[in-house]
Amino acid sequence: MHPLIQTTLRLAVAAAALAGGLHGAHAQEPYPSRPVTWLVPFAVGGPTDAIARTVAQRVSAELPQPVIVDNPAGAGGTVGAVRAARSKADGYTLFVGHIGTMAAAPYLFKSLKYEPLRDFVPIFRFPDTPMVLLVRNGARFKSARDLFEEARKRPGQLTFGTAGVGSSSHLAAEHLAATAGVKFTFVPYKGTGPAMTDLVGGQIDAMLDQTNVSLPQIQGGRLTALALTSQSPLPQFPGVPTLAEGDLPGFLASTWYGLYAPAGTPAAVVETMRGAYMKALADTAFTDGLRKQGIDVLPGDQVGPAALRDFTASEQKKWERVIREAGITPQP
Ligand code: ASP
Repeated sequence: MHPLIQTTLRLAVAAAALAGGLHGAHAQEPYPSRPVTWLVPFAVGGPTDAIARTVAQRVSAELPQPVIVDNPAGAGGTVGAVRAARSKADGYTLFVGHIGTMAAAPYLFKSLKYEPLRDFVPIFRFPDTPMVLLVRNGARFKSARDLFEEARKRPGQLTFGTAGVGSSSHLAAEHLAATAGVKFTFVPYKGTGPAMTDLVGGQIDAMLDQTNVSLPQIQGGRLTALALTSQSPLPQFPGVPTLAEGDLPGFLASTWYGLYAPAGTPAAVVETMRGAYMKALADTAFTDGLRKQGIDVLPGDQVGPAALRDFTASEQKKWERVIREAGITPQP
């Protein structure tokens, strides 16, 4: 071949490659084109981890790539929230926030390194989970009243496991102690999974936890449920009274969660994840499985990004008031 023709050909090939490359860079990459990580800020084996893995698995079935759960636990979930807030806003790192990290934390930590509704965009709200007051099987407390009576006689002596300051187990336990007029000593863990291990082992006296991982422990005879924090009794917990209808009239507590993305995440990412979850919600095998664990599946119009944003904002107002009225001093 003539050298001039050869050079021209080479140039043409190079130009085509360059054009292809430029075109590739501009073309919208389908999302997700690699696995997506959901950061769950509590220990493996706890209720947040369990519900997040159940939802992640079902949502994965609607996506071309799997959702993987990672657990950066600590400081009532705020360690994971900070990591998530600082992650690249490309849709590949999302955050499972909850009542504590997204609503109460700003009023419990003076130097919180994120602002929930400034640093995150809401994607969808998970099902809500009521809570249950637990002691180990064979404990001397046979009812919530037994526990409150002993706590009244020995203020601050009974130990209560929590997942750290501002976790739902802590918020609910503070609320319980204030309503019952008693004082417990709170023992923080990286999640209620490890706290539950210590409850079974007798290192702590009691805890409040979500129904979903408590149920198998109760059925397996390792823990005793003294009372539920739901409005009405739950069929999954036969014979367990509610606090609202019993010892603490009107007392309610539950844990809510939501999936959030770092601020700046493209709207198409939010829509893809929301759409996948809406499809999961239409699957009765999925929703029935959650309900069997005592989990409250919310209707579709309460779970989208706008609903989650409004709900998060209203919960922040509520917890700001509760924390102020309870006279809780924020952590430095
Ligand atoms: N959700 C629990 C809490 O906030 C913690 C956990 O799931 O381990 O107390």
